[in-house]
Amino acid sequence: MAHYRQCGFLRYQPQFEQAIAERYSLLSQLRLALNEDQLFLVLQPKVQLSDGALVGFEALVRWRHPEGRIIGPDQFIPLAETSGLIGRLDNKVLHMTLAAIQQLHQAGIRVPVAFNASGVELVRPLFFDTLQQTIEASGVDPCWLELEITESQAVEEYDLITPNLRRLIQMGMQISIDDFGTGYSSLTHLAELAATSLKIDKSFVQQMSESANGDELVAVIIRLANRFGYQIIAEGVETQAQRERLLALGCPLGQGYLFARPMPLVEALAWCQARPGS
Ligand code: C2E
Ligand code: CA
Ligand code: CA
Ligand code: CA
Repeated sequence: MAHYRQCGFLRYQPQFEQAIAERYSLLSQLRLALNEDQLFLVLQPKVQLSDGALVGFEALVRWRHPEGRIIGPDQFIPLAETSGLIGRLDNKVLHMTLAAIQQLHQAGIRVPVAFNASGVELVRPLFFDTLQQTIEASGVDPCWLELEITESQAVEEYDLITPNLRRLIQMGMQISIDDFGTGYSSLTHLAELAATSLKIDKSFVQQMSESANGDELVAVIIRLANRFGYQIIAEGVETQAQRERLLALGCPLGQGYLFARPMPLVEALAWCQARPGS
């Protein structure tokens, strides 16, 4: 990299060709993955911090590569977003989430399940119509479905997507602002965000145990959420100390490795059944 900067221009390097070839190859593999159902969901519990009781799940996508590897979303969502495949991917995730909700219900587990939609999709005019039609066709009551969108998306595209998000809330769906605190200030919009809950980003939860300053940030987010009537949940809770600190600061809900990793549906069902009171 330093070499290119010194030159002031990009000299042809064989690596460029290799990088482009790799991207192209991954792209055609991803296209195949979408056609051949290589994508699947893992579910991570959202719990009450006080007693660990289940309050919901977040569905996260995984790619079971034909070579046997499981690939995480950070390695293919950006590619899907820049190649026009994200619409089909998000749609697939929605269908799989609705199917998971139905399977949980059959097992007697009735909690909302959240899915993530890409910002690229949210600004597409037909996104919300398709979403509504898909939910209706599934027969799943929208109250069991939650949409997670990132803070930066919620704020940058505020005027465009807010009316649509309100429509979803009116249908009974929950809307969660993901990675809250990492976007540039949404304070101007905080009172009128079309959301039912704010999700404290894991970077804040992780800084919390390290500095008093970190604590202050989380405390402020919790106070703001309470002030404006949003539910509040912390992600990336990994230690007992973080759990206790969050409770002390007034955050009732959490999600993270301390409670459970994201698991395939069968494991999630077993996890629920193994718990006292279930
Ligand atoms: P996110 O929505 O912020 O998801 C939380 C990420 O944190 C997940 O990574 C989850 O596995 C991880 N995590 C959960 N608990 C802990 C913990 O205690 N400690 C730590 N260090 N990490 C924890 P994952 O599954 O790799 O997802 C990464 C990102 O990819 C997600 O961030 C989301 O933005 C995106 N993504 C995942 N699934 C989908 C999807 O179906 N559609 C779209 N468009 N994006 C998705
Ligand atoms: Ca999320
Ligand atoms: Ca998040
Ligand atoms: Ca994130």
